[in-house]
Amino acid sequence: MFLQVEGLRKSYTSGEVTTEVLKGVGMELAHGELGVILGPSGSGKSTLLNIIGGIDRGDEGKVTVGGVDISGLSDSQLTDYRRERIGFIFQFYNLIPTLTVGENIEVVAQISQSPLGIDQVLKAVGMLDKKRRFPKELSGGEQQRVSIARAVVKNPALLLCDEPTGALDYSTARDILQLLEHIHKDYGTTILMITHNAAISAMANKVYRVRSGEIVETRINDTVLPAE
Ligand code: ADP
Ligand code: ADP
Repeated sequence: MFLQVEGLRKSYTSGEVTTEVLKGVGMELAHGELGVILGPSGSGKSTLLNIIGGIDRGDEGKVTVGGVDISGLSDSQLTDYRRERIGFIFQFYNLIPTLTVGENIEVVAQISQSPLGIDQVLKAVGMLDKKRRFPKELSGGEQQRVSIARAVVKNPALLLCDEPTGALDYSTARDILQLLEHIHKDYGTTILMITHNAAISAMANKVYRVRSGEIVETRINDTVLPAE
């Protein structure tokens, strides 16, 4: 399996209060698959995605990506892993406001080991003609297209999307999901996405439903498996 999560646990402590956010989560995705995570707000979806992406660390359990157990990496190795192997797309686009569209992509391409062409990815997301614009001159949907190009330019092994359409209106959201579907197919990128969109869940190879830090249902293509 390309991505394998086993017995993943995570708690946050603030003051006297400890909250168990992930209570032994297991999941897996083969190379080139599209996985969807859904579940109510506060159920631990982002925490799970962030640990897989090396933004956060689990307390217990194992996360293996492309044969590497990332729980065993040092902080600097984890940073390299995140930079070289992971593309992240968030609900809010997090573009650098003082850089143009082209420059936002370029700064990522420069630190990547085997980047794709800047014009190629901008063309793929339909934003080549806006290369010299600044983020504030773009609509939300256009900014999200640029953030997709920025994630894709490093040719990531794994593309992680945290509610990529959460801030967009219905028809723009549909366009963005179609774009991600094209990227999944054209580049063969393995994608794990938090979304409540029913159309993308219907296309996914695997759908994981999370509730209170546990996976309560797994759907593999069309077969629903109950929780263990
Ligand atoms: P988050 O985990 O980021 O807080 P929410 O769970 O609040 O996200 O859901 C984000 C959006 O998706 C909201 O607009 C919510 O109404 C909608 N939503 C939540 N659950 C479902 C569902 N099962 N089917 C369709 N839409 C949903
Ligand atoms: P979801 O993405 O399903 O909405 P999250 O993973 O964002 O859920 O959050 C799950 C729980 O963990 C929430 O109760 C949230 O408040 C808590 N949490 C998330 N990140 C932190 C953090 N850095 N410090 C403390 N609590 C956190």
